[in-house]
Amino acid sequence: MRTAVVVGAGLAGLTTAGALARSGWHVVLLESAERVAAPPTALVLWPNGRRALESLDPDGGWSMIASPLADGGVRRPDGQWLVAPRAAGAGSAVHLEDLYDALVAGLGDRVEVRTGFRVTTILTGPGLRPVVGDGRTEIEADLVVAADGIDSTIRRILAPGSVAVGSGFAAWQAVVPGYRLPSRSGGPAAGGETLGVGYRFVSVPLGDRAAGHGGVYWIATAAGAPRPESPATQLELLRRWFAGWHPPVGELLAATHAGDLVPREVRELRPLPRAYAFPSGPGGVVLLGDAAHAMPHHLGQGACLAFEDAATLRSLAGEATPGAGLTAALEAYSRVRQPRAATVVRQTQRMSAVVRARGRLALRARDAALGHLRPRLLSGPFAEWSPPA
Ligand SMILES: Cc1cc2nc3c(=O)[nH]c(=O)nc-3n(C[C@H](O)[C@H](O)[C@H](O)COP(=O)(O)OP(=O)(O)OC[C@H]3O[C@@H](n4cnc5c(N)ncnc54)[C@H](O)[C@@H]3O)c2cc1C
Repeated sequence: MRTAVVVGAGLAGLTTAGALARSGWHVVLLESAERVAAPPTALVLWPNGRRALESLDPDGGWSMIASPLADGGVRRPDGQWLVAPRAAGAGSAVHLEDLYDALVAGLGDRVEVRTGFRVTTILTGPGLRPVVGDGRTEIEADLVVAADGIDSTIRRILAPGSVAVGSGFAAWQAVVPGYRLPSRSGGPAAGGETLGVGYRFVSVPLGDRAAGHGGVYWIATAAGAPRPESPATQLELLRRWFAGWHPPVGELLAATHAGDLVPREVRELRPLPRAYAFPSGPGGVVLLGDAAHAMPHHLGQGACLAFEDAATLRSLAGEATPGAGLTAALEAYSRVRQPRAATVVRQTQRMSAVVRARGRLALRARDAALGHLRPRLLSGPFAEWSPPA
């Protein structure tokens, strides 16, 4: 039987493990944490990510957990529109706990999940099936999928020139449950994005569905380093920084509890690895998800790209047999995914420059460009992506 080891049970690893298992592989999924658990936040699924998930598991029940999202436009902190809202659906929003539940349900019985297993070593070489280990146990497989996130041990060994660096932003996320929301119509439920000088606030309604979490997800971004203070103090700081911003920003922050807050340092890989596949014996190792292309969150594309990676790997290597067929499939994966990730990272960097703009002239240029730039960034190469046949 064809064997795969998937390292990391985040969104990328769970998606890939389930996809390979449904293609007939025996999969061992290794996770360093003691349990597989989602952070209590949410995610925007752009059409490319949604299509990838649907192609991987048509029975995944995605419409049950993901709410359609209208384009809520962009405003200044005083409420003045920079880009008008459009009724047209742009993507969908999903609570991460619902998404993890769906992906875990999709693992089936061909995936052996081992938690508390931190991979610290990987051996590759001509004539050698790749072997991962944690210092006590070694596991050999035809295919190793490195889905171990931005600090990937496997990438550090196989592509040491690519390192995780700070992007110059800190971010805070939270989901405010529906029962705590102020009941003003057209308020938090509407969602949208607001750009200040060095600050950004995005709110995303999660809908009010019988299946899954509802409420409103928000994400605040500030230029600068992550804060060392306690969550309660950081929440106070956020309320101060965003004081006076148009509704519903203040209302959402007021309805947030310190325990809801998930502070994140925003980091990225620089430069991207030049290759995403490393042949070894009759198979090899591939990089996938943040291990391959971590980027700032401004376009909300990190996880969507991970789902694309998984769909591409399944399509190219799902039916391949160890030997020349599998090696060629992994090389094809690298050839397709590396330029795609590089394109999306370039677009994300343009959006980072928009968020970072300071000074009167830079802000005027930002506001003038936003109307053209935003639709192109949000719909251009992203909407066009379809899973490979
Ligand atoms: C603030 C913010 C907002 C975002 N919003 C969006 C959005 O709206 N839409 C979107 O598409 N993307 C978004 N992203 C990006 C998205 O969250 C990430 O791209 C995605 O979660 C990465 O998933 P992953 O599985 O590759 O990595 P991770 O989630 O980091 O998972 C890696 C897993 O591997 C495990 N692991 C690590 N090392 C080892 C080891 N040595 N051995 C075994 N296990 C190991 C970890 O414990 C973890 O479970 C956002 C990111 C941020 C920071």
